[in-house]
Amino acid sequence: MRVVLVGAPGAGKGTQAKHIASHYEIPPISTGDIFRANIAEQTALGKTAKRFMDAGDLVPDEVTIGIVRDRLAQDDTASGFLLDGFPRTLAQAEALGEIVADLGTPLDVVLELQVEDDEVVRRLSGRRTCRNCGHVWHVEFDPPSVAGVCDECGGELFQRDDDLPETIRRRLEVYSEQTAPLVGYYAERGLLRSTTAIGSVDEITKRSVEALELATQV
Ligand code: AMP
Repeated sequence: MRVVLVGAPGAGKGTQAKHIASHYEIPPISTGDIFRANIAEQTALGKTAKRFMDAGDLVPDEVTIGIVRDRLAQDDTASGFLLDGFPRTLAQAEALGEIVADLGTPLDVVLELQVEDDEVVRRLSGRRTCRNCGHVWHVEFDPPSVAGVCDECGGELFQRDDDLPETIRRRLEVYSEQTAPLVGYYAERGLLRSTTAIGSVDEITKRSVEALELATQV
């Protein structure tokens, strides 16, 4: 199963990516996670990415595409992969097409998680991430038992810089200008399936897997 997840920031791509990938036993590949790991390790890539991420802008294509090319060439993608947060521009989509063609592993399906803008702002502004284990909580929908402390590991929770209200607005603008056109791009190629990203995490995973099963049935 080779899948791309698309959807606005806050549609729940990260959460669903982990659940869907574990269902199919394929690696979830998140460019956002790769950038955040590089920021934590203070690499040169991390320093470059942080400037763009903190402003709510996209990291330039020439940086991002190379990372995905290297990642998809690793052995663990032999059984498939689930891309979360890539591609985000038409240029990235074109590059991905070339990468998978070179590897002989064409995409099976592009799944769009649909959610309204107001809901996105509510979700992102309440999101809190554990500094230690990376678990994501929500002050309203999934609060830890003690505010600011991770129930999983006792680590300190923090708000991502790119989840601050003005950055969220910028990320939504960037999404509608640069990423939303991918929905039409993949629809034209017969790869697109959409599902609404409203409901519990389990419900959305179930609907997503059903959509993927339907799409890959011949
Ligand atoms: P995410 O965790 O997917 O929401 O990504 C967080 C941030 O990382 C985005 O707002 C971008 O600044 C950057 N980023 C992640 N994936 C990409 C991508 N495919 N192209 C450009 N920037 C990206």
